[in-house]
Amino acid sequence: MADEIRDVVIMGSGCSGLTAAIYSARAKLRPLVLEGHEPGGQLSMTTLVENFPGWPDGIQGPVLIENMRKQAERFGAEFRVGHVDAADLTQRPFVLTVGREQIRTRTIIIASGASARWLGLPSEHALIGHGVSSCATCDGFFFSGKEIAVIGGGDSAMEEALFLTRFASKVTLIHRRDAFRASKIMLDRAKAHEKIHFMPDTVVEEVMDVQAKEVTALKLRNVLTGKVWDFPTSAMFLGIGHTPNAAMFHETLETDDDGYLKTRDYVHTGVPGVYACGDVADRRYRQAITASGTGCMAAIEVEKYLEETGH
Ligand code: NAP
Repeated sequence: MADEIRDVVIMGSGCSGLTAAIYSARAKLRPLVLEGHEPGGQLSMTTLVENFPGWPDGIQGPVLIENMRKQAERFGAEFRVGHVDAADLTQRPFVLTVGREQIRTRTIIIASGASARWLGLPSEHALIGHGVSSCATCDGFFFSGKEIAVIGGGDSAMEEALFLTRFASKVTLIHRRDAFRASKIMLDRAKAHEKIHFMPDTVVEEVMDVQAKEVTALKLRNVLTGKVWDFPTSAMFLGIGHTPNAAMFHETLETDDDGYLKTRDYVHTGVPGVYACGDVADRRYRQAITASGTGCMAAIEVEKYLEETGH
């Protein structure tokens, strides 16, 4: 184990972790950012971001992330490729295991995000950012006047479908069975909307057209009849849920039924010195700006905690 004891280690390099890095670096805490499995987080997988304040013409998600990272580095944040395999919160300083290395730290900011669930089709993966999206708020605008497909049968899918009616000429909600997990109110609202058409008992087998680098159609299969057909559409939005990246804390920190970290006073976990920010603790807003906001809060709490504990 290295002798060094860090003041703060930030788990995750999406906009919440990077904002925490900027603030804690400017506070001269020399944060160590462990980049995680998806460096840059969900923003690094989107294209144009038009709702992050300060960019009147929008900014590409990967550029926004790169800018935040440079800003954090300018003030002394350190970055390391790596994923935390285990976190021991029972000892002080805390001990994080990253591969063969053990890192000791007085505080931890958990900003490991949530990963959108995908269908897992190679053609789907190839067209992310080119008509395949998991964020209607981010990408719906690009499909004004077009026909859009939404996949899923829960509240997320209903919410995405309803939101997308602002832009789309028609929204087709494709669900793998005919019973819905969505709350009655959301389901009724979606069913009552003239632009939303329901297609139950149907699964997506392939997204086209990978060669053309744009979504033109979905190959669909009716699970009851076995019928397969090509369904023309300009976009496919996934609304099949998110998975918070917090599995390693399920024994040590409080989570809700779906595994999101529970916080109080915005970013406090149940363990003093351990803070959670961004999508790993937020199932409700899930926006870049809210993730950045809570990243800032976590960094300020770290500063206060270190002051109060005499470091
Ligand atoms: P969810 O309730 O778990 O629903 C996920 C949906 O995606 C289900 O219909 C599921 O189908 C489908 N699905 C999952 N994997 C799939 C796959 N591989 N292929 C095809 N379909 C698949 O997730 P959620 O909608 O994100 O909601 C999560 C929680 O957040 C819920 O408690 C919800 O109420 C809440 N939420 C609330 C709001 C709101 O109130 N405004 C908005 C969003 C979310 P099956 O049903 O067949 O499993």
